[in-house]
Amino acid sequence: MENIEKNEALKNLNLISAYLLNSAILKKYPTAKVGRVGVGENGFYSDIDMNEKTLSKLELEEINHSIKKNIEKISVREISKEEAMNIFRENPYKLEQISNEKDSISLIEIGEYQDILEEKIDTSDLSNLSTELMNVSGAYWGDDASNKSLSRIHGIAFKTKEDLMKYKEELEEAKARDHRKIGKDLELFMLEDVAQGMPFWLPNGLTLYNKLVEFWRKIHEKNGYQEIKTPLMMSNELWHQSGHWDHYKENMYTTKVGDIPYAIKPMNCPGGMLVYKNAIHSYKEFPIRYAELGQVHRHEASGALNGLFRVRTFTQDDAHIFCLPNQIESEITNLMSLIDDVYKMFGFSYTVELSTRPEDSMGSDEDWHLAETSLKNALEKRETPYKINEGDGAFYGPKIDFHIKDCLGREWQCGTIQLDFQMPERFELSYIGEDGEKHRPVMLHRVIFGSVERFIGILTEQYKGEYPFWLAPTQVNIIPVSEDEKIMNYARCVNNELLDNDIRTQLDDRNEKMGYKMRQGILKKIPMTFVVGEKELTNGTISYRNLREKEIHTESKDQVIDYVKTLAQNPAKQFRRK
Ligand code: ZN
Repeated sequence: MENIEKNEALKNLNLISAYLLNSAILKKYPTAKVGRVGVGENGFYSDIDMNEKTLSKLELEEINHSIKKNIEKISVREISKEEAMNIFRENPYKLEQISNEKDSISLIEIGEYQDILEEKIDTSDLSNLSTELMNVSGAYWGDDASNKSLSRIHGIAFKTKEDLMKYKEELEEAKARDHRKIGKDLELFMLEDVAQGMPFWLPNGLTLYNKLVEFWRKIHEKNGYQEIKTPLMMSNELWHQSGHWDHYKENMYTTKVGDIPYAIKPMNCPGGMLVYKNAIHSYKEFPIRYAELGQVHRHEASGALNGLFRVRTFTQDDAHIFCLPNQIESEITNLMSLIDDVYKMFGFSYTVELSTRPEDSMGSDEDWHLAETSLKNALEKRETPYKINEGDGAFYGPKIDFHIKDCLGREWQCGTIQLDFQMPERFELSYIGEDGEKHRPVMLHRVIFGSVERFIGILTEQYKGEYPFWLAPTQVNIIPVSEDEKIMNYARCVNNELLDNDIRTQLDDRNEKMGYKMRQGILKKIPMTFVVGEKELTNGTISYRNLREKEIHTESKDQVIDYVKTLAQNPAKQFRRK
């Protein structure tokens, strides 16, 4: 699904359409006053003061029909600020906008309609332009709640009708995959106003969460990590030392213990540094890899919160790696293989970006050169295509970001490998080198999922709630065909055998019709349904149906249970240490 804002050609068409929309609105409602227009990832919008008039769906359709009426008449010219003040003298929004502009202003004209052009546009290919107005919401002028609320009309524009239709289909598909909806349907998690942006995990969701974490733990054990756990809340003394207080305090939750100010951790790094400092280290121990599933809290604006995608508390699948300068490259290479294996296993493709030294940076030229070269070498050795964001690294070190692509083509930044020259300095970390002297270790932060909560949100949309067998909250739905005691006993015996093999089951012994029970299991996306009746009891068999298949198979009980055991195996088995 195209991110309209990131596609230059689409962004251009959408911006033009926002102006076309304004011209159509003013034609129909001459007393309306246009505010600003803009383009986001989901299309264009225009903020308009409609004098308290609310537009109906039908009126939106009518306006959309007339959008292209003056498409031939679009022109742009430069005017002076003075001239602009005169043209827009009756529109307070434009006057405010002009007052913030430089001397020369681009004026866009479409028939009689005039507006301030905010970005360059290209009108060369509008012949088949196709638009649709999606909805109207409220938006405060200048995003300031003390200002007037204007009507924000949201629309989408594509080069052709076919492109528009395709996008709308994808939009429908995205709606069906929305993790907030599936989360409710499958009873995975809930959100309450008493803890905005802080998910409550329900039994099904927590099972899924724990299985994912189990997978994560296993792959880390197999790749030479040691797991640690550091406190949720630490005194401000530490946050001053780490620099978080200076750079991040607006997003931190604070409290007091006695007279001492404390803060809840927004990141796990300082805890990791203290664990490193707990012992004297020798170069012979390197690399040291401390993994931590650390729950962090960050105060996000309530308007930005979105299901599991944007929350105020989440668990980072963090790790801090300490190594020698000449180990950076091999560490990065190994990490990239691990990340590659994990993403591929979940069916994601991904893109990689390397961010290099910004102008205002700490650390020596030598440090930066070595770090950047090691990252580049690792990328090139693995033949991973990557984009360079020149000068976009943090001031304390270069980084590699991984953006996974889901089945709808949407991109999510998940993994990061970040080198850090600052933390080891701030915490005065050291190791004893071969020369018997103290040296600073190289340190890197990294995550694979990013946030476990967000990753579950992404997985839910990727799989549409039909998780792989090993992750599914309930794996087998057992349905006895009647309440006959012998059949019920057989069903219980099958259930017990599955439980003994760590399979998560549900024995549906309710007094309901079989068809109903089957449908209920399918709605809950339980990957497998077992049906046991007279025939199965007599022959020692199980009839089963996979979620995605229509047909029912019948095989011996042992065969079916063996089959299910293979499906249930945690895929971490494949992630052997290199
Ligand atoms: Zn860190």
